Formats: sequence, structure tokens, C-alpha cells
Amino acid sequence: MRVKRNILLVLVAAMLSRCTPATGEMDIFIKNGIVYDGIDSLPKLVSIGIKGDRIVYVGNQEKEDIPTRRTIDAQGLIVAPGFIDTHTHADVELGSPSESDNKPFLFQGITTVVVGNDGSSLFPISKYSKIYEDQGIGTNVIFLVGQGTIRERVMGKVDRKATPDEVLSMQDLVKQEMDAGAFGMSTGLFYAPGSYATTQEVISLAKVVSKNHGIYDTHLRDEGCYSIGLVAAVEEAVEIGEKANIPIHISHIKCLGREVWKRSDSIIKIVEEANKRGVEVTANQYPYEASATGLQAAVVPRWAESGGKDSLFIRYSDPNLKPRILEGTRQNIELRGGPEKLLIVNSEYEAYEGKTLGELSESMELNPNEAVFEILKKGYARVASFSIDPYDIENFMQQEWVVTGSDGNTGHPRKYGAFPRKYKKYVKGGTIKLSDFINRSTSKTAQILRIPDRGAIQVGNYADIIIFNPETFGDRADYQNPFQLSEGLEYSIINGKISVENGGYTEKLNGRILKKE
Ligand SMILES: [Zn+2]
Repeated sequence: MRVKRNILLVLVAAMLSRCTPATGEMDIFIKNGIVYDGIDSLPKLVSIGIKGDRIVYVGNQEKEDIPTRRTIDAQGLIVAPGFIDTHTHADVELGSPSESDNKPFLFQGITTVVVGNDGSSLFPISKYSKIYEDQGIGTNVIFLVGQGTIRERVMGKVDRKATPDEVLSMQDLVKQEMDAGAFGMSTGLFYAPGSYATTQEVISLAKVVSKNHGIYDTHLRDEGCYSIGLVAAVEEAVEIGEKANIPIHISHIKCLGREVWKRSDSIIKIVEEANKRGVEVTANQYPYEASATGLQAAVVPRWAESGGKDSLFIRYSDPNLKPRILEGTRQNIELRGGPEKLLIVNSEYEAYEGKTLGELSESMELNPNEAVFEILKKGYARVASFSIDPYDIENFMQQEWVVTGSDGNTGHPRKYGAFPRKYKKYVKGGTIKLSDFINRSTSKTAQILRIPDRGAIQVGNYADIIIFNPETFGDRADYQNPFQLSEGLEYSIINGKISVENGGYTEKLNGRILKKE
């Protein structure tokens, strides 16, 4: 009898602890909203209570007698977990006092960004964590250690195989960065100097990451047909996952360039088969038809830039090498769809911005491949490259293992608009369901990155919550005006503190550095 009563008491206590706040009044109470919790496919009409930095109550909307300091009436609005952006280039901005608010991402509904993508990370992480922490940041941040950065530190920018000693040194540095809190390692195998690494070298480093329970995030060696080809590049990623026993996350999955358009079906098959064999393979994607990268990275042959930009121009001035460099560049421009498909979106020489390579080469009275080097002489230039087919975008987007990632970098509208654009164009347009968009921008992403206690509206989780207007939520940035904040976000709550209120920024830096335990 007594035992039974005790069990009953435990049950009642368990029910109470799930439904009511642990103690006293709540700091924030969100009521009347249409709640997508990040996991379920149907919305719920529930209220949410926040105390400190955690969600302490999710329950019946009718019940309004819970004492609270602050009530948010979300009538007619969608309440969701804050978005987690798996792929950004916000590293430098977050360290700059004028940009550490991370507004371009914050106003998309993003509450956590990943940095250190594409093989390139700030080094050492311990130093930059401290800078971010001391100064304050507008969103949460997760670090990845970049394989290209580590290789460059040990070997410079050279195009050669690593010696066994160099591999050991790289492994030590990867371990050091994982110990500093990185969630995994990124590679940019398309870019120098990461591209100079063999598959085996990458596996050696990935094994260290695996031991530290991190993930492997990759910009594939080839997203089109520049070197080994898209299919072989995906197979390489799967091989790394298999041999290093590590989850694989493919960044900004796409079929880049006319030659590989509509190949998404075969890529999906490779991923599905790997998943069936027990190799975890997932991907992120941005919803745009143009990719963006450095002009040099986009069209200059890799062998020609070994050693860096100075070495490139030394080779370019060598009459024996120049024709080969120009021919390789010409071919790469064609693979990108021709000079009209390459739009300069950001340049140290501002007059180039907003013009295509075709327009610039005409005004310079040069061939497009020669114009590339004139442009590069004036400094760094970034291009939007219109080389992705809508069929592949939608096909990848519909896979349950593909989550949203902005790849936000300066000059491409995706930095300001990726998540709201996906909602406006692809959810409202009927490509994917609203719950799939939300779940694959929140809890699924947290699961892929192994982030504990975030990504879902659940009691006990950190209170990273957004509230947006289903009618107006959308992107405003485009290729002509890439620096327009998105609209329709009414509230953003990060770690239980309000960062966006009634559509306006509260000037509060509520983000934290999330460290891998
Ligand atoms: Zn990338």
C-alpha cells in the first residue's frame, strides 16, 4: 500500500515538474502563439514560460494564472526554436565591436551560428573565444577548426604531400583546438591550401576529431567538374566518414555548373546508401541559384596559386607558364557558365562591384580570362556565380537529412536572407512543409552538430526562441542590394533574454560561446 502511494506521489511530482515552473514567478511568458516545437510536424497551441536562461514551462494556453514579469502575446504569430545556422563566415565580424551584434543573422531568426567553415578558422580558438566573450556577441557561436588553417600553420601554402612528422604536428593542433571547445573540423578541399591534402591526410586528422566526439564538416573537393568531379567528391567524404568513424556533414550541397545539373538524384542515392551502411551523412543548403566565392578561387587553376597570391603573379609573369594559366582560367570560366554568369559582389576596388566579368572584360578591352588577373591585381574580389539549377535546389531541400545553412558571407544576399527566403519562396511556394523547414533549421541541426539542450521548445532546454509573422516573414536582400535586413521577425529570445522586440533590435548582446564538453 505504502509503496503504491509512494509511486503515486512520484508520478504526481513528475507531472507537476513537467507542467509548472520550478519556483516562483517566470521571467517571460509567451501566450497565444502557434507553436512549432522543432520536433513535431503539427503546431501546438501552448504557452511557454521562461525563467533565467531556460524554458521552464510548456503547457495549456488557457491557463494564465502563472505569475510572470513579462508577457508576450503572440496572437497570430509563429513561435519556434531559434534557428541554428550550420555554415557562416561571421568569424571576423563577431570580433569587431561594430558588428558583433551579428544583426544580418539575428534578423533571420538565427540564434546560433557556426564559424570556422570551409577549412578556414580563426586560430587559436581559445584566443578568439576570449575576444568574443569579453566584448559580447549578438548570437550564440559554435567553433569548428579549419583543416586548411591547420595545414597552413604547419606547412605553409605549398602544394605537396605532408610528411609523417607534419601530420603529427597537424594532429596536435587539431587536438588543441578541439580541447578549446570546437564541435568538429571543417575542410575546404576545393580551396588552397586544404585542396593540397590527400584523402589519407584528412582521415588522419578526422580521427583525432572523432576521438573528441566532434563532427566532420566539408566543402567538397569538387562540387561540379573542376577536378575529381562531384560524385567522386561525395564518395571521398563518405570514405572519410567510414575510415575515421565520424559523422559527415556536407556543406552547401549543390550541383555546381551546367555539366552536373540534375545530378542531385545520384548524389542523394550515395548519401542514402551510406546512411544505410551506418555512416552518418547529412548536409546543409542555402536557397539560392548563385554560389559565392573569391574570384581567384572560382576560376584560377589550383596549381597556379600554390604558395599564395604573390606566387601566382610570379608565375603569371613567366612567359612559359602564362598561356597555361590563362587556358585553365578560360576553362573554369566556361564551367561557371561564362563571364556573364560571374557577378562581382564585393571588391577592394569598389568600381568593380555590381558588374559581371563579361562587362568588365569588355570595358577593359581584354579577354575575360585576362581581365580576371587585372581585377585580382587591384585586390581581393568576391563573385556570385549563377551556376545552380532550381531542380537540384528543390530536390536536395526535400531530403530529411538536409538542413538550412546560410553560408553567409559579405556581398551575397544569403548573409541577410537565407532562412526567411527559404520560408517565403519554398515553404509558401509549396516545396517543403513549414514544420520541415523549422525542424530542419533547429532540432535536426542541433542533433547533427551534437549541441545539447537547444533546437527544440522543451522544458529544460535553453530559451532560444523566435516569434515571426507568417504573413510578412521574408528576405529583402538581393544581388543588387545585398545588405538589407530580413523582415517579419517580431521577437528573438536568446538564452532567455530578449534581443529583438516588436521587430526592433534591443541593443543587447545575449549570445554565448557554446563549447563542446
Ligand atoms: Zn564553402
